[in-house]
Amino acid sequence: MRKHIVAGNWKMNNTFDEADELISNILDALEEKNLDRNTSMIICPPFPFLEMATDYAKDSYFEVGAQDVSTEEKGAYTGEVSAAMLKSMEVSYCIVGHSERRQYHHECNLMVAKKVDRLLENGIRPIVCCGERLEEREANKQFDVVKQQIEEGLFHLTAEQFKELVIAYEPVWAIGTGKTATPEQAQEIHAFIRNLIAEKYGKAVADEISILYGGSCKPSNAKEIFSNPDVDGGLIGGACLKAEDFMAIAFSF
Ligand code: PEP
Repeated sequence: MRKHIVAGNWKMNNTFDEADELISNILDALEEKNLDRNTSMIICPPFPFLEMATDYAKDSYFEVGAQDVSTEEKGAYTGEVSAAMLKSMEVSYCIVGHSERRQYHHECNLMVAKKVDRLLENGIRPIVCCGERLEEREANKQFDVVKQQIEEGLFHLTAEQFKELVIAYEPVWAIGTGKTATPEQAQEIHAFIRNLIAEKYGKAVADEISILYGGSCKPSNAKEIFSNPDVDGGLIGGACLKAEDFMAIAFSF
C-alpha cells in the first residue's frame, strides 16, 4: 500500500518561541492519539528552526523537511543552504519547486532538477511541487504544464532514484487563496501524473509514488480530497500553522 503523507509547509512564519509552541502542541497531540502506521507526518519549518524540529522528532513520530536547498554542493554562495548541511542536521525531506520559489525566486525546471540531484546525493527525499497557474488552467493547459515540469525536472533520474520522490500537485490558483481544486479535478491530474510516471518508469514505480495535493487543504475538505484513489495525502500551508487543524487533516484518511 502506498504511504499516506501529510506535510506541513510553514513557509516564512513563526518566531523561535512560536515554533517551539507549535511543535510541542503537535507532539502532545501525537501522544494522545496515534497516527495510522501508514501515514507519515512531516513538518517543514524555516531553516533556523530545523535543529529544534529534528531534536523534537527524535522522540516522536513525525519527520522533518526543509523548504528549499541550494542547487550547488558547497562554496561561495552567500545565504544558500546545501543538501549536505541539511543531511548533517538529520533532515529527511526537502520541498523543491514550490510555486512561491518559482514565482519570486525564478526557480525553473532545470534548477528543480539540480536541487533534486543534490538532495538524492545526500539521502534526502525531495517533495517536488508542480502545478499550473490560473491562466494556464483557464486555457486548459494544466496537463501540458505539469507534464513539462515533471519531464524537465525529474525524468533524468533512474527508476531507483525516482522511487525516493514525493510529488505534490499544487494548482497555483488554489495556494493560499481559499479556492480548492474539486476532488474530481485533483483526481484527474493525479491520475495523469501517475500515468506519466508509469509510461517512463513502469507501473510498479508509479504505483509506489505518493502524490500529494496542495492548495487550501483544511480539516473541512481534506477527507473528500484524500478519498480519491490517486491522492495520497496533502502538502499543507496555512492550515499547518495550527496544531489542531494540522492534526485533523492528518486524521482525514
Ligand atoms: C502550500 O504552500 O504548499 C500550500 C498548499 O498552501 P495553502 O495550504 O495555504 O494553500
